[in-house]
Amino acid sequence: MTARVIGVLALQGDVPEHLRALRDAGARAVPVRRPEELHQLDGLVIPGGESTTLWRLSVAFDMLEPLRKLIASGLPAFGSCAGMIMLADRLADGVAGQLTYGGIDMTVRRNAFGRQVDSFESDITLAGLGEEPLRAVFIRAPWVAQNGEDVAVLGTDQRTGRIVAVRQGQLLATAFHPELTPDRRIHELFVDIVKDNT
Ligand code: GLN
Repeated sequence: MTARVIGVLALQGDVPEHLRALRDAGARAVPVRRPEELHQLDGLVIPGGESTTLWRLSVAFDMLEPLRKLIASGLPAFGSCAGMIMLADRLADGVAGQLTYGGIDMTVRRNAFGRQVDSFESDITLAGLGEEPLRAVFIRAPWVAQNGEDVAVLGTDQRTGRIVAVRQGQLLATAFHPELTPDRRIHELFVDIVKDNT
C-alpha cells in the first residue's frame, strides 16, 4: 500500500519537527503553503506557533476559506497548540476579529495556562494509546474550555484537570507539542486516522 500524503501547513511554526515525526510514523510528509497544494493531500497537520499569525497569514495566502472548506468536507487534520486553536469552532480570549478554520465542536481558550513563564512539561495518560504516560510539552498553551458531545476527550492535564487532547472523527487536536518529544504515538494515531479515512 502506498504511503499516505500528509501536508504540514508551512505558514509559521514548528514545521520541520512535524515533517520528521510524520515520516517516523510512516507517512509521506510535505510542507504546504498554497491553495493549489492542498488537493494532493490525504491529511493535514497544523503546527503550533501563534494562532493570530496563522490566521493573518492564512488570509494573506488565500488559505483560510480553502482550508475551512476542506476540513468541513472531511479532510483529516491534526492541530497542536496554535493548531488546536485553529481547529476550534469557538475561541475564548482571541484577539478582535480572530478567525479559525473550525471543525471541532469545542471552545478553546488561548494562553489558558498563563504567560510564557508558565510553559511546562507534564505526563499525560492518553485514552487508547497505552498505559505509558506521554511526556507533554506545553508552551503558552490553550485548553479546551467546552466541548460538544461528539468530541472524545483523549487526555487531561493532571494538575488542573483541563482537557488537553481531543478527537472528533477524523480531527485530532492537542494543546501540547508532540512533535518536540521522541514519543511518536500521537503522530502514529493521526497516520492511522488518515489511513482509515482513505
Ligand atoms: N499562545 C499561542 C496562540 O495563541 C499558541 C502557542 C503555541 O502554539 N505554542 O496561538
